[in-house]
Amino acid sequence: MRTPYLAGNWKMNLDRRAALDLVSALREHVGDRTDVDVAVAPPFVYLDEIARALAGSRVAVGAQNMCDEPSGAFTGEVSGAMLVDVGASFVILGHSERRHVYGETDDLVATKVGAALSAGLDVILCVGETIQEREAGETEAVVRRHLTQGLRDVAREDMRRVTIAYEPVWAIGTGHNATPEQAGEVHQYLRGLLEGLHGAAVAEATRIQYGGSVKPANVAELMAVDDVDGALVGGASLSPDSFLPIVDLGR
Ligand code: PEP
Repeated sequence: MRTPYLAGNWKMNLDRRAALDLVSALREHVGDRTDVDVAVAPPFVYLDEIARALAGSRVAVGAQNMCDEPSGAFTGEVSGAMLVDVGASFVILGHSERRHVYGETDDLVATKVGAALSAGLDVILCVGETIQEREAGETEAVVRRHLTQGLRDVAREDMRRVTIAYEPVWAIGTGHNATPEQAGEVHQYLRGLLEGLHGAAVAEATRIQYGGSVKPANVAELMAVDDVDGALVGGASLSPDSFLPIVDLGR
């Protein structure tokens, strides 16, 4: 049985006050519930303070990106050890905005995944096709490449620290979520790939989140799909009015 995992990716949004108010509401709402895992990924500069505000709670704090190198002359970058140092327990890697806006390659994503696990961070690895790729019938080939390359350096025993997020690029921030059928098809395909890579037990245990325009109105039908084990939520994670209902409905 996989515990649903609902994570909020704040991207480059919110200010300090709004961020603290949001996590205070979230902390109180989640309480000591164990039927769902909840996490937030604030911008780097707020991580330390948000991690302290959520210390001892059941809400995890993570980063949206990190450097693939452990330290050194990498201006503007942040290492996995630094993230751990300020209280992060996971990092989102391979997000489509990192791939498509900042040109991150499968190779770089794979190196970051290895570096994150070595630093002691759990990983949410994002995979997903663009609309052009979907229309060209390339969805499976693209998510296969993202998954197999992204997990290239991950040992079987470390797979319990990895979550996959299926995020079709055409659904991110557009208001057009994948239908439950579309999500179900790709999630089932991804679980089959996980079985091929690491065996049935790992495939059965690994959580696969759906991401792309998740909101209170659609989360329940998406979470009802067999292989959908939670959500990675962008816009709707920025306000208690939308994220708290998602936490409730996503179970
Ligand atoms: C995301 O960026 O991971 C995301 C899914 O965004 P949104 O929920 O806003 O579509």
